[in-house]
Amino acid sequence: MSVWMPLSRPTLGPQEERNVADALSSGWISGTGPYVERFEAAVSAHVGRGHTVAVSSGTTALELVLAALGVGPGDEVIVPALTFAAPAAAVCTVGATPVLCDVSSTDWTLDPAAAAALVTARTSAVIAVDLLGHPADYSRLASLGVPVIEDAAQAHGAVLAGRPAGSFGDISIFSFHANKAVTTGEGGGVCTDDTELADRVRLLGNHGMTAERPYWHEVAGRNARMTNLTAALGLAQAERWGELVAGRMRADARYGIGLAPLGLGTRPVRVGASPSCWLHTVVTDPGTRDLLVSALRRASIDARAVWPALTELPRYRGFAPHTCPVAEQVSRSCAWLPTWSDITDEEIATVLAEVATGVEELRLSARDL
Ligand SMILES: *Cc1c(COP(=O)(O)O)cnc(C)c1O
Repeated sequence: MSVWMPLSRPTLGPQEERNVADALSSGWISGTGPYVERFEAAVSAHVGRGHTVAVSSGTTALELVLAALGVGPGDEVIVPALTFAAPAAAVCTVGATPVLCDVSSTDWTLDPAAAAALVTARTSAVIAVDLLGHPADYSRLASLGVPVIEDAAQAHGAVLAGRPAGSFGDISIFSFHANKAVTTGEGGGVCTDDTELADRVRLLGNHGMTAERPYWHEVAGRNARMTNLTAALGLAQAERWGELVAGRMRADARYGIGLAPLGLGTRPVRVGASPSCWLHTVVTDPGTRDLLVSALRRASIDARAVWPALTELPRYRGFAPHTCPVAEQVSRSCAWLPTWSDITDEEIATVLAEVATGVEELRLSARDL
């Protein structure tokens, strides 16, 4: 048995180690300290936003943004049916109702026409996910007439109309989980140009108080701060943002070239969008997908089927006013292959060889039928 190849892995170097050691020896290890501010400034610079608030996770970032926009019980928030579940979960956490919307077959992001049909008097926001690094269609989503939250958790380095992912919508969020392109281990960020909204997010995530007036709690806040220790790691990562993004895109391109002759596709791209890559996504039919994932896992490669559509999960399916056939079709026919920024050509070649063997076995067994 060969060693297990993970689905993803963080790309960490000596600067990350130096920063963490420095934060540790300084004694500033909680949610106050110089690395937090420096990390926030570095993220703002990459995203082209006026403000970044570093927080404890991407999911927490979504909850704080919803709370800061005043979204709560009685409100509806439109979310895509195909995504990691955090956007729908965050809507539930603040007491509002997620409304599941299908994705578009042109790019697999929130379908603006389908979303328009779901807007009601209670719709108080829409969360668009830059799925697998592909920015949603923000110019069309802007005309929905409700606040747009960009979930750029998977889209570090993606570009749309010359602007970076994370710069769209009224406010955006990032995740810096260890499997994302830029990581702090666990962590998240909220980015916006709206100073009042940024202040509100910071207030809500800092016990409901401001740095200027300790113990004066204006609202019942929570503690969602990123630690200085975490931000130290994040700053080193943010300084190599471009390199980390480029590494994953290179892996994505190599996989694409290697898989095409095997009859396997890649995800669609909308004209005008320049997606980045979170994980390389293989597109095939549901039967081939399931068999390929099992074959790769037997070969000690952590390939995975993409998430079930939210319309297929018992906890969320009641939130879909209409069916979401595109989300379900994509969910059933796609799989992820191991992807990280410094994955080697040999590692990619190993995965491709196992995929080729799997596809060949499938052909042989189909012929026997
Ligand atoms: C990873 C992810 C999140 C959640 O981020 P965490 O930091 O893991 O809480 C939210 N939305 C999307 C689309 C994600 O991929």
